[in-house]
Amino acid sequence: MRMSPEGAELLLGAGRELGLDLEPHMPRFARFYRMLVEANQRMNLTSVRDERGIILKHFVDSLTCLLYPGFVSGMEVVDVGTGAGFPGLPLAIVRPDLHFCLLDATRKKVRFVASAVEGLSLRNAEALWGRAEELAQGVKRETFHVAVARAVSSLPVVAELTLPLVRVGGFVLLQKGPEVEGELGHSKGALEKLGGVLEEVLSLSLPVGGEARRLVVLRKRRPTPKEYPRRVGVPAKNPLS
Ligand code: SAH
Repeated sequence: MRMSPEGAELLLGAGRELGLDLEPHMPRFARFYRMLVEANQRMNLTSVRDERGIILKHFVDSLTCLLYPGFVSGMEVVDVGTGAGFPGLPLAIVRPDLHFCLLDATRKKVRFVASAVEGLSLRNAEALWGRAEELAQGVKRETFHVAVARAVSSLPVVAELTLPLVRVGGFVLLQKGPEVEGELGHSKGALEKLGGVLEEVLSLSLPVGGEARRLVVLRKRRPTPKEYPRRVGVPAKNPLS
């Protein structure tokens, strides 16, 4: 399935609302769209299946990360729980000056993301199969400038999966909905244990539809103590408080 001319216009217009000129990137977005729709017919990658939904809820929603001005050329970014590549793949398309490690625990999703990286000839991204808990206790601990995550877990859990991967001075950007405001109060203890602080919460509305979103920015202040993250599955089963 090709992206329709209306779909391409929708994406371009939404990009303009975010202050992005997506024109040079349209061939890659069209290719990614086709690969996603085709793969989704064979396996369940995403429940969003209509063209408008894929463009707005996946592509455009991913790109809203760039409203946070902290991304600087040369940064290494890890997308924890990227699923079918969100937000990491759209970000890699529009920011060739950043490098992306697209991590997921589900093998079929990582296979798809790897095929998309290759199919789009992205030289600034790699797909990685694994658990954030294991990656963060290995050689990649505290090596990334940035971690991003969307729709992975509650704030204390996702903080434990991301902050240990980020170097001191770096940041974590979490894509959330307005419900995050309730989670923030319960996360102070977790952030403190992990060496992070809440830097800011950006409120935004998604282009075109106007749905409310929040970008939660955590700053890594101190090294994370060795005991975090805990063993695979423990952060989700027994969230830090
Ligand atoms: N970020 C994508 C996918 C969200 S679904 C999107 O917004 O569309 C959550 C994903 O996180 C799943 O694909 C799951 O496999 C992955 N995940 C959950 N816990 C994980 C962990 N500990 N390490 C790596 N990936 C994890």
